[in-house]
Amino acid sequence: MLDAVEALAEVALPPHCASCGAAGELICRPCRDLMRRADGKRCRHCWLPSEEPVCPDCISKPLAVRELRSGFVYDGPARAAVLALKHRGVTDLARLMVGMAGEIRPAPDVDLIVPVPIPLLRKRRRGGNQAEHLAHAVSERSRSDMDPRALRRRGWWGPRQAQARSRSERPRIVAGAFAADQARVSGRGVLLIDDVSTTMATLAEAARTLLAAGATVVDAWTVARAD
Ligand SMILES: [Zn+2]
Ligand SMILES: [Zn+2]
Repeated sequence: MLDAVEALAEVALPPHCASCGAAGELICRPCRDLMRRADGKRCRHCWLPSEEPVCPDCISKPLAVRELRSGFVYDGPARAAVLALKHRGVTDLARLMVGMAGEIRPAPDVDLIVPVPIPLLRKRRRGGNQAEHLAHAVSERSRSDMDPRALRRRGWWGPRQAQARSRSERPRIVAGAFAADQARVSGRGVLLIDDVSTTMATLAEAARTLLAAGATVVDAWTVARAD
């Protein structure tokens, strides 16, 4: 039902650039040219810029996520587009961004795509979960199964509580935030999908939860990476 309403809204409204507002396209050409790809020398685990293949942080404190990959650096029009995705929940924009991010090839031992869930109240307010729209698009492109029910968010927390805390507090706040459905994830290799990765606290906690429920391995992909 929600999808039908969204589809109508997308047909009815002429597209505007999610970054600069120019009429015509969901992301206009000049803004596309300004989007920076998250490539170059990066740590193969956390995908932050690094001269070494594995950064010092990942050596001293290995992540529950085996490998993160991201399409764009989280700034400029890429940041604006990710924010637009959060607040408009538009499926076409999600599909466009996944398409622009280049090839997404899940590892051979990965066979299930799982969006990072958001708290229920936030999902209701936004009319959807942006990670789910992205996961749909990734699943279409990579022809892998997607299961939004594999992982759920515990509790009803609104956005303010999480945002008010400092970056260093994030791991503690997200501890225990997720519950995984063992029947859906046990024995499967998972590719977690989210819009943006910053501290990785959320992705790491989601990965720990999936591994505890029997997932064999957890990789992650986000549209944008905050460097
Ligand atoms: Zn633009
Ligand atoms: Zn690293």
